[in-house]
Amino acid sequence: MIVDTHCHLYFDRFDADRDAVIARAAENDVQVMVIPAVNVETSKAAISLAETHTGVYACVGVHPNYVIQFTNEMRAEFHSLSAHSKVVAIGEIGLDYYWDTVPRDQQKLAFEAQLSLASDVDLPVIIHCREAFPDTIEILVDWVKNSNYPENPGVLHSFAGSLEDAKRLLDIGFFLGITGPVTFPKADGLRTVARTIPLDRLLIETDAPFLTPQQRRGKRNEPAYVKWVGERIAIERAIEAEDLFAATTRNAHQLFRLSSSLNL
Ligand SMILES: [Zn+2]
Repeated sequence: MIVDTHCHLYFDRFDADRDAVIARAAENDVQVMVIPAVNVETSKAAISLAETHTGVYACVGVHPNYVIQFTNEMRAEFHSLSAHSKVVAIGEIGLDYYWDTVPRDQQKLAFEAQLSLASDVDLPVIIHCREAFPDTIEILVDWVKNSNYPENPGVLHSFAGSLEDAKRLLDIGFFLGITGPVTFPKADGLRTVARTIPLDRLLIETDAPFLTPQQRRGKRNEPAYVKWVGERIAIERAIEAEDLFAATTRNAHQLFRLSSSLNL
């Protein structure tokens, strides 16, 4: 079994064939998919997909590029949505200084509010970080320190930082999610990270419909293609692909506490 721990299956690019995409994932051994939200509306959409598909799990939260203003009403809404039995994380939340569409102080307020929400509802977090590693890590270090060091606080999704960034996140118990760019010809830095971090801290993701691996680069990404991410990392680490898949699946179950619901 393989888990794609990050795919946005509610986006309209899947409207025409969403069920076929989920079925194709299962045919490729990707039986479990975790769907991060980007706002209130997509949190609800993720939950309704999780309700209608056994292997699909949902997250709730607002992405840094989608924060207009993080209100108490939003917090209350996410709080109540997070009680759903198939909601496994708060995310994706974080900081994005690349697009910079939302003022940084607003991003930080929303980020910190949602970290505190995650502590309140006892769920791990999925972190989006683009060109914002120093601030993101500083906020996460403070959060972990003040929340009595939760054992598996979250994942830094689609990791694109340095080895030093990776080390600081591993030090506070984070997992690192690796996506399609690890297959790109020029991604030597990312491959070094994927090869170096402990196997028990690694997750494989698609971020579908984005970040399509080299094999289909330029086309829409989908969960079935997470295999190519795993296979490439296995080559880098000089291990069998099936061992890589076994480890990353175990990690996903550990982080998102899926084991009981899947009878593993
Ligand atoms: Zn995403």
